[in-house]
Amino acid sequence: MIESFDAIVIGTGQAGPPLAVRLAQSGRKTAILERNRFGGTCVNTGCIPTKTLIASARAAYVARRAADFGVTIDGAVRVDMPRVKRRKDEVVAQSTGGVQKWLRGTPGVTVIEGHGRFESARVVRVGDRRLTAPEIFINTGGRPTIPPIEALTQIDYLTSSSMMDVDFLPELLIVIGGSYVGLEFAQMYRRFGSRVTVIEMAPRLIAREDEEVSQAVQSILENEGITVRLNAKCLAAERRGNDIAVQVSCEEEPRDIVGSHLLLAVGRVPNTDDLGLERAGVATDERGFIKVDDQLSTNVPGIWALGDINGRGAFTHTSYNDYEIVAANLLDHETRRVSDRFPVYALFTDPPLARAGITEREARASGRPVLIGQRPMARVGRARERSETQGFMHVLVDGETRRILGAALLGIEADEAIHCIVDVMTAGAPFTAIRRAVHIHPTVSELIPTVLGEMQPLI
Ligand SMILES: Cc1cc2nc3c(=O)[nH]c(=O)nc-3n(C[C@H](O)[C@H](O)[C@H](O)COP(=O)(O)OP(=O)(O)OC[C@H]3O[C@@H](n4cnc5c(N)ncnc54)[C@H](O)[C@@H]3O)c2cc1C
Repeated sequence: MIESFDAIVIGTGQAGPPLAVRLAQSGRKTAILERNRFGGTCVNTGCIPTKTLIASARAAYVARRAADFGVTIDGAVRVDMPRVKRRKDEVVAQSTGGVQKWLRGTPGVTVIEGHGRFESARVVRVGDRRLTAPEIFINTGGRPTIPPIEALTQIDYLTSSSMMDVDFLPELLIVIGGSYVGLEFAQMYRRFGSRVTVIEMAPRLIAREDEEVSQAVQSILENEGITVRLNAKCLAAERRGNDIAVQVSCEEEPRDIVGSHLLLAVGRVPNTDDLGLERAGVATDERGFIKVDDQLSTNVPGIWALGDINGRGAFTHTSYNDYEIVAANLLDHETRRVSDRFPVYALFTDPPLARAGITEREARASGRPVLIGQRPMARVGRARERSETQGFMHVLVDGETRRILGAALLGIEADEAIHCIVDVMTAGAPFTAIRRAVHIHPTVSELIPTVLGEMQPLI
């Protein structure tokens, strides 16, 4: 027997649940499928748990620096890893439980637990059940990439997902991957008390950013005692007694880094290989991402792909924005497109790096006249008051249109302050729109109008 629905949503990531609720509210009988934990990556193994752990790590960091603020702590600062994990688990449980309760409590939504797989463009199988609907929405997210490193199968390695079960302190954590996920874990574990080495194959960390940004982030991490090994092109791993040895170079000494634990943080692959997409005729690219148009329709009419699986974003806010785009086009008779958004994201090291729009490298390559406004965090009152003056603010403006092209804010509260820039860019207003804005003193954001008032040609 086949069960008929008006809509099927596969996956409860950041787009699926709000979309299922909107579809049901529009009168569609909607099924939503989840094979694992409700809320997907962000809620269970991504943003929420990592930022909760980062908060514990920061507490340890500030406690160790207490004397800088005139505060005396008698005795050593110790981190209770089981309690750190328990706190993280509690925060996660609240969120995942909230998503599940919301879906189960919404009239018109049927929650089905199990792995969904297409049998055809209109039929999805979950265990013994076969479901059909004229509209199917895929939000199945991604999982950590396991790189083809020699002898990796002989080693117990960790990924960003299995790190969530760690309730002990690794003595020496080797992190392969010097990008967002790897660097957040590296700093977090250093602050918990591990010795940490980051291994990166590229010549610099977070290589998609400008060189100055990469170097500043590297210095911030090295200042806390993290070892960074770049240009690691000759990777291999082996068990050495109780330890793990990672070969990083074939020529340069030391060739090996030896540690107690190994975390692989080299990117993510889309969960599209086990969906039966070929039976539905849904096209993917060479890396497995589902091909979509500007409104997130796949090549098969009646099937949409939202979130990390479409390769058009890799963040919670892009996945949620995908939901808004599909809902607006389908249910609100508005026209919204993916191409209307520009890149915004943060690296939640401490201090964080917040980014919007294009980089300086991209601005130069555009050949347009570009202006830059800059300020070191050492000249931001809030940063000095907090004794946390590492980093800088860079804002780029198109010399002709006067529009903001991009920004890199590296410093305390940069992840909040960036929204001054994001909002002006979204409004399509010239940078002068906020040059005379009165911002609250003493904040990081108060200096953004000042930065915009001191624009110079980008050389
Ligand atoms: C360590 C880490 C930290 C991160 N930090 C941030 C951050 O700070 N900010 C940020 O914006 N982003 C962050 N991200 C990225 C963010 O988590 C994702 O971009 C976000 O979760 C969007 O994912 P999604 O909606 O595409 O799907 P996901 O959240 O990945 O959810 C997909 C869901 O589909 C389910 N599923 C898969 N296949 C099937 C199937 N066949 N049948 C049924 N169910 C299925 C999965 O079990 C999962 O629950 C982080 C990611 C990681 C790994």
